[in-house]
Amino acid sequence: MTSECNLQCRYCFGESLDDFDEEFGDDLEVDYALPRKINYDAELLEKFCRKDPDCVLTFYGGEPLLCADKIKQIMDSVKPRHFMIQTNGLLLDKLEPKYLNRFHTILVSIDGEETLTDYYRGKGTFRKVTGNLKWLMQNGFRGELIARMTVMEQTDIYKQVRFLLENDEFPFTSVHWQLNAGFWGNDYARRNFEEWARTSYVPGVKKLSEFWVDKMEKDGVVLKLYPLLGIAESILKKEKNCFMRCGGGWINYAIQTDGYIIPCPTMWGMKKYYLGNIATADPSKLKKVFVDQPPCVGCQILGICGGRCLYANITKRWSDMHYGKVCHTVAKLVEAVQAEEPRIQQLIKNCKVSLKDFDFIRYNGCEIIP
Ligand code: SF4
Ligand code: SF4
Repeated sequence: MTSECNLQCRYCFGESLDDFDEEFGDDLEVDYALPRKINYDAELLEKFCRKDPDCVLTFYGGEPLLCADKIKQIMDSVKPRHFMIQTNGLLLDKLEPKYLNRFHTILVSIDGEETLTDYYRGKGTFRKVTGNLKWLMQNGFRGELIARMTVMEQTDIYKQVRFLLENDEFPFTSVHWQLNAGFWGNDYARRNFEEWARTSYVPGVKKLSEFWVDKMEKDGVVLKLYPLLGIAESILKKEKNCFMRCGGGWINYAIQTDGYIIPCPTMWGMKKYYLGNIATADPSKLKKVFVDQPPCVGCQILGICGGRCLYANITKRWSDMHYGKVCHTVAKLVEAVQAEEPRIQQLIKNCKVSLKDFDFIRYNGCEIIP
């Protein structure tokens, strides 16, 4: 919808200021002159989506709700199977419930407790967002609401996920998190990623996996903690060759504000990866782009990881050594879920939970591998 945003979060706006002079290399020419807001007709999008019987349309930005009128126009004319939105939640009240209640899924950015969310995202964010979410539920929203965390060194993953699930202000039933790692060109040196990952994040994820299965044991509930859920589902269904789990580049595509199609929203403006334009492209015939570079090619856990992030693999914003620190967290996450497999299998055998409880709608904006 737009590259504009009404927040200035530390890990996004803050990092982009420091990253401004960084180039991607000659090979990756970027068109920085894209329109700030969507500039093609809803009618064009309608024709494009009509060619795909399984079309799911997700509004994305910047902050998509800065274009609330255009969203309404699109929702009035395009008929995908589902609508979804990824939003920072500040402007949810700019859409009437008759539109909001048509969303199958709303992903709202929130990082945990009020102090942490406001530290990363700006003072007052937590209150405003949870206020809007209460209003959303009071007005009849019954779709899936996913808390979408961005995590980095100030985050205690175990504590903050538990907070999101259990707080009195606004408890969530679905949580996804993504690491701010490998997306910017020169942040590693001034950060403390390795130590934090080793002493806080990795042990926190292990504890969270144990808590997740304890909850199955105690209450018969499989909480939608997406990174755990996605990996567990693959393990239980013996899936061994996962592609990029966000779907980016092979089943999930992004449409730029000018109508050009790219593998994922972060690859905006990268002309080399333009895959067509909605004016002429057929959604079922879009080129598929897969990770084809080391370290993913040749990685022992590619089949379960899927490659984490196409953008990170292509742009290599972090050096091989630093990339490896992120991969270590992936390996440890997979290990933590694998360690719980016997308990989960036993719970399925005892009918405490069923395999069906691990189902989820794929490529819904949760990248699974943080
Ligand atoms: S763990 Fe790292 S190297 Fe291995 S597939 Fe995932 S992102 Fe690629
Ligand atoms: S994880 Fe997927 S959607 Fe997210 S930035 Fe990477 S390629 Fe894009």
